Amino acid sequence: MVLDIRNPETFQGPDSPSDDDLATCVHCGLCLNYCPTFRVTGLETESPRGRIYLMTQWKRGGLPFTEDQLRHIDLCLGCRTCEAVCPSGVPYGRIIERGRAEVERLRRPNLRSLLVRQALRGLLAHPGRLRAAGALTRMAQRLRLTSVVPQSRTLPRLSQPFQPPEDGVAPAIGERRCRVAFLTGCVMPIFYPRAHDASVRLLQMAGCDVWFPPDQRCCGALFAHNGDLEGARRLRDLNERAFGMEAFDFLIVNSAGCGAHLKDFYPGLGSRVRDLTEFLVEAGLPEPRRELKLRVTYQDACHLVHAQRVRKQPRRLISSLPGVELVEMAHPDICCGSAGIYNAVQPRMSRRILEEKLDDLLTTGPQVVVTANPGCQMQLEAGLRSRGRGDIAVKHIAELLVEAY
Ligand code: SF4
Ligand code: SF4
Repeated sequence: MVLDIRNPETFQGPDSPSDDDLATCVHCGLCLNYCPTFRVTGLETESPRGRIYLMTQWKRGGLPFTEDQLRHIDLCLGCRTCEAVCPSGVPYGRIIERGRAEVERLRRPNLRSLLVRQALRGLLAHPGRLRAAGALTRMAQRLRLTSVVPQSRTLPRLSQPFQPPEDGVAPAIGERRCRVAFLTGCVMPIFYPRAHDASVRLLQMAGCDVWFPPDQRCCGALFAHNGDLEGARRLRDLNERAFGMEAFDFLIVNSAGCGAHLKDFYPGLGSRVRDLTEFLVEAGLPEPRRELKLRVTYQDACHLVHAQRVRKQPRRLISSLPGVELVEMAHPDICCGSAGIYNAVQPRMSRRILEEKLDDLLTTGPQVVVTANPGCQMQLEAGLRSRGRGDIAVKHIAELLVEAY
């Protein structure tokens, strides 16, 4: 079906992908076998090259803007694996972010788009509402009322959310070497408070005063990745103001998707943003005190390895732990199918990608799977449970590191 085109300049709105960015693709096809959706389907239309071609033709008017073709854009995980392997330097992250914004502007409203927008603008952007939703879910899980709050079955078991110190600063342990700001984020303090506690502890041990700007909000990554650039810009303005209230040396982020977004989308802050692992390798940690005796495998978070190109640092930190054996799985840097809210809006494709990941991961016989992103953690936990392997722990890298102290 050809959509009614409400804007006469189809796919040429102010946020559409630029001609220059689209033209960097030379159609060599070297990215194809790295793309998770192409690997599953074998279809050109589900490949980076196919998606770039589609957007280019929409822009030029060479192909009609049709509902069934939007599916190919919707099915992209935004994992940016293609960007990392492209010899021509295609800025695919920027292309798909802008392409999605343009698709959302032009497409006929549908229930899924409306629900996504409502979840983002009505919930994620409001810390108070998120905390209330977290408290309700926690209660439903405790009372086993999971039919009342259906998502509480798939979420991790919630405990008390992360609370920054009352005076807003966690002081350095030992010699004070620098002052860092910490992004608490939107869902991480509710879903994975232990990862935050561990991250802050490690930063303190590395000699940092850790400051928590009180008015910080969700960074807006999920907004930008789902076609709501306007919402992402609004959150950026609020955060640039909140983080501008006091001086700091680095802004530390322990969630890969948020870190990549801050580096790319926040001109006023991006150059000071560091992933936790990147920073800890630079700053150095004291000698670990405990031997852990664990067989561990590491799943790269796409927005850490492909978008931020942080590959060696997490491995170096894990390998430095006494008694820990790091066993690499096949394709550790291929997406697990989580991709923000992709697993909720594209459950079938997400599941197919996850199954391959679980096969690779289980082959290593791990006791612990380590990652650096809450979405991957949740996806892998759910996947392992579904295979009856809930005995394998999935941990944020900070949780594993802090155990050695
Ligand atoms: S995105 Fe890069 S690797 Fe893929 S076809 Fe285009 S130029 Fe080649
Ligand atoms: S971002 Fe990921 S899923 Fe999308 S085209 Fe690139 S490799 Fe494929």
